[in-house]
Parts: sequence; C-alpha cells; structure tokens
Amino acid sequence: MGNLANPQNTIAVLKKYQFNFQKKFGQNFLIDPHVLDKILHAADIKKDDFVLEIGPGIGTLTQCLCEHARQVIAVEIDKNLIPILQDTLSEYDNVSIIQEDILKTDIQKIADTYNGGKPIKVVANLPYYITTPIIMGLFESHVPVTSITVMVQKEVASRMKAGPGSKDYGALSLAVQYYALPYLAANVPENCFMPRPSVGSAVIRLTRHENCPVEATDEKLLFHIIRAAFNQRRKTLVNALSNSPELDFDKAFLSDALKACGFSPSVRGEALSLEQFALLSNTLFG
Ligand code: SAM
Repeated sequence: MGNLANPQNTIAVLKKYQFNFQKKFGQNFLIDPHVLDKILHAADIKKDDFVLEIGPGIGTLTQCLCEHARQVIAVEIDKNLIPILQDTLSEYDNVSIIQEDILKTDIQKIADTYNGGKPIKVVANLPYYITTPIIMGLFESHVPVTSITVMVQKEVASRMKAGPGSKDYGALSLAVQYYALPYLAANVPENCFMPRPSVGSAVIRLTRHENCPVEATDEKLLFHIIRAAFNQRRKTLVNALSNSPELDFDKAFLSDALKACGFSPSVRGEALSLEQFALLSNTLFG
C-alpha cells in the first residue's frame, strides 16, 4: 500500500472498502504530504519515541509515525476503519490498533504496558467535536505525556495560546497554559482534507510543563474560579464569582480578597493572568 497522503491513493482506499464518511466522528482525512511533515516536525518525533495517535482514520498520519517512531499505538472508534488500517499498515510491525472511544481508553495502562510507564508523545489530527475533553482529559488524568501535537480547529488553537486582554482569552487558555506551553506550528487550509471541513485548522504543540508555572493550594478551587470568571466574562470578577453556584463567597469577602491581591475592585476576569488567578485562589483559600 503506497503513501496515502494524496487524493488519488486516499480515494482508491475508500473505494476499495466502500467506506462512507461518518460526520458524527469528525472524519476529515489528510491528503497533503506537506502537512504531515509539519506535524512530524512540530511533534519532534525521534526513533526511540513511543507515540499515541488518536483517530488514525485510514492510517495516513500513522504511516509516517511508524516510519519515524519506535512504537505507535493508534486508538480508532470507527470499527469500519479497522480492516482498512490492517491493510494500509500491514508493512509495519511497530504499530498496534485499538478499536475504542479515546474518551473511555485507559491511557495510563497503555503507557504502562507499552512504554514502561515512561512519558509518551500524543499526535493526532483530532476529531474536532471532542477536542477539549480529549486534551483536558490527558492533562487532568496526569497520564505521563511529554507533548501533545494536534490538528485542531483554528479558533481553538488561538484560544489555547491567547493571553490576557485578547478576545480569545478564556478558561481554555488558562487550563491549557496551566499544564503546558502552547506553540502554534502551522495553519492548515480546508483543501488539505477529504472531505473538506467547514472550518480552518491549525497544528498546535502543547509541551507539558515539568513544573507548573504557578502554585495553587487548591487546584479545584482555581479552576472553579476561572470557569466562573469566564462564564460571565462581561461582569466584574466580584459579580461573576458571587453569582457562581460552584463557589460560596459573598461580595464583601470577594472584594476584600481582590484588595489583598492588589487588584481593582472592578476588574474583570479577562484582565487577569494565570499567576493572578492563582494568587486570588490562594488568597480565597486562605
Ligand atoms: N488521522 C486521520 C487523518 O489525519 O487522515 C483521521 C483524522 S479524522 C479528523 C479524526 C479521526 O478520529 C477519525 O478517524 C474518527 O473516526 C476518529 N474518532 C472520532 N471520535 C473518536 C473517539 N471518540 N475515539 C477515537 N477515535 C475517534
């Protein structure tokens, strides 16, 4: 089976297996070899790397990963793709396919079984409908991950790397940046996929911090505060936090805490950095 990263070979495989795209699984297959190079380069795949690929599709990116990494595990939900993958990846002996929903997969077990519990690299052209749960699941479960290099919707990539003052800045920016350093590796136009998605795409690498950039006494409280601040982002922080059903602080207490942190009483969440949210969270905890 030849290189799949072009329209002719992709169409030939789809025809051979009479494969029908399933929109519900976010199936947009890559057909551009340059984009594969960019993903591999951004992920910095080396010969001794263990890679987890999420959603291999017909195996286009998987083939490249097998060429460059030591071992690849690919988790694909669509059972109709399994016989295709067995065919397109038949010449590689360093790949295993797991037919499963990635959101229900025990990734820690994969890292333990196949990589002796050592950190893994995650690479994927993600199904966009579950981008956030996949990425936050990987970070929050504390699975050992060195980096996550993924194709995501362009707007989502912008949100992940945005800082205070930007319109894209929000709870996702802070959650991602708490765990990792984002780097936008490439913008990818619609015509690099089959079928074409209705949105622009981008490759982003999230390099996991060895040490968190901030110290939160209570991580859960920090994220409750961040979520509450951006659920009502046009309100002042005091109002947004006092309205939150997840938090139990009255306005006077919140105002005192803001003052103790040196913030304006009318500050909005969108103006605060991760460090400032952590300071507020630790002050409220105290
Ligand atoms: N990697 C292939 C490529 O680049 O051509 C396909 C990428 S396509 C955007 C997303 C893939 O994720 C599809 O193959 C889809 O079936 C799979 N997928 C969707 N939901 C999934 C889930 N919950 N768990 C695992 N795979 C999933």
